[in-house]
Amino acid sequence: MGKRALIVGLGIAGMSAAIGLRRAGWTPVIVERAAERRTGGYFVFLFPQGREAAADLGVAGHLHTRNPAWKEGGNTWALYRRGEPKPELGFLDQDQAGPAAVLRGDIEAALWQSVTDAEDPVEVRFATTPAEIVQGPDGVRVLLDDAGSGARYSETFDLVVGADGLRSTVRRMVFGPHEDYMTDWNAMVCAFQLKEHVPSFAPTDTIVVPRAKRAAWVFGFADHAPTTLLTYRTDDIQKQFSGSRTEQLRSVYAGMNDPAVRHILDSLETAPDVLFDSVHQVKMPRWSSGRVVLLGDAAWCLTTYSGMGASAALRGGAALGKAVREHPGDLDAALDAWETGLRPFITEEQRIAKIKQQRFVPSSTPVVVLRRLVLSVARRIVHRRRAAETTERPAPVLTGAGPASGNRS
Ligand SMILES: Cc1cc2nc3c(=O)[nH]c(=O)nc-3n(C[C@H](O)[C@H](O)[C@H](O)COP(=O)(O)OP(=O)(O)OC[C@H]3O[C@@H](n4cnc5c(N)ncnc54)[C@H](O)[C@@H]3O)c2cc1C
Repeated sequence: MGKRALIVGLGIAGMSAAIGLRRAGWTPVIVERAAERRTGGYFVFLFPQGREAAADLGVAGHLHTRNPAWKEGGNTWALYRRGEPKPELGFLDQDQAGPAAVLRGDIEAALWQSVTDAEDPVEVRFATTPAEIVQGPDGVRVLLDDAGSGARYSETFDLVVGADGLRSTVRRMVFGPHEDYMTDWNAMVCAFQLKEHVPSFAPTDTIVVPRAKRAAWVFGFADHAPTTLLTYRTDDIQKQFSGSRTEQLRSVYAGMNDPAVRHILDSLETAPDVLFDSVHQVKMPRWSSGRVVLLGDAAWCLTTYSGMGASAALRGGAALGKAVREHPGDLDAALDAWETGLRPFITEEQRIAKIKQQRFVPSSTPVVVLRRLVLSVARRIVHRRRAAETTERPAPVLTGAGPASGNRS
């Protein structure tokens, strides 16, 4: 009999683990709390580490990327107090070694194609959650709730993978309460898709309005409506969740009289799918206990600011499959090897996320000034190099990237 793994969560981590384990000869079963697969989502930078993992999982060919074509002068604009947009170094200004622009849903759609592969589909049970997890000598007995039928039943698996996100149920049941692992960053994020870009900007433009302790971003794509990110620092996280979200955000951004911020706040009122959450990093001394392993945000959430969470989830799933393949019949050794290989990368990304946070939302006015200076120098260097490269050879075009159409230059 082949080995069976229960994977909790149909996100990037869960699907990556399912594909990785299937490639190792296991039979994965995914349970997902939602009644159906989510689509869309916010802007995600997919770094080379994530693209390599997607290739390892055999899904790179399914991945649709949306980088605006690079143009001299760039596509990224910072709006400071005086109002006139200033060109800024964009995350996508690097060459092929830089990130790809995707929606979270693009990565999930690529993984889903493989999960539902007609030759060897993975069983997916929607509206299903674990109610109890008990480890025994021969396997893990999991009590599962099916919200669709109201049924509760138990099944035994050789491995349980908790890929159920920041507030993981598997982590709480097996490793302990959230407070033991979720560190507070005293910051909030609000992300959603805009129907229309900020007036007077090109559809492919990225805009940032950076102020001390609060910032607004709009990320432009080559072939999709932009998404926005409002992010701010606060000492009172609880208060952010009391009362109306829209009023809360209007009060935080009051006084930022920029038309871009007004456009974002007005769009929030009618946005169908809004993510509004506090920022936390998950820090755990060990990601597995016996036959239960955590993966993705459940194990190591890096925060939005890291820009590496999706890449890490892909890499974690691909590496888990590889470790299990290389240690057949010895799960302990496989999980040890998996964690030993992955931990230095995660530790480093968790460390540098604090620095990257300053780029997303500066902590003070001096940091706003320093940030502007550093990015301005870096932009000049990067753009000079890229302009020289573009004259020497045509710029490589990533899959799905469309022509730049802009009314700014
Ligand atoms: C605004 C924002 C911007 C970001 N930008 C980037 C970026 O630029 N680059 C990048 O790499 N990363 C980025 N990230 C992070 C990245 O999106 C996440 O790290 C990644 O999606 C995590 O995937 P996951 O599968 O671990 O968790 P999740 O995406 O949270 O998926 C967990 C899944 O488990 C399900 N679930 C939860 N509880 C249960 C339960 N009890 N039973 C069954 N199912 C359950 C959920 O419904 C969900 O489907 C960003 C995140 C945010 C919020």
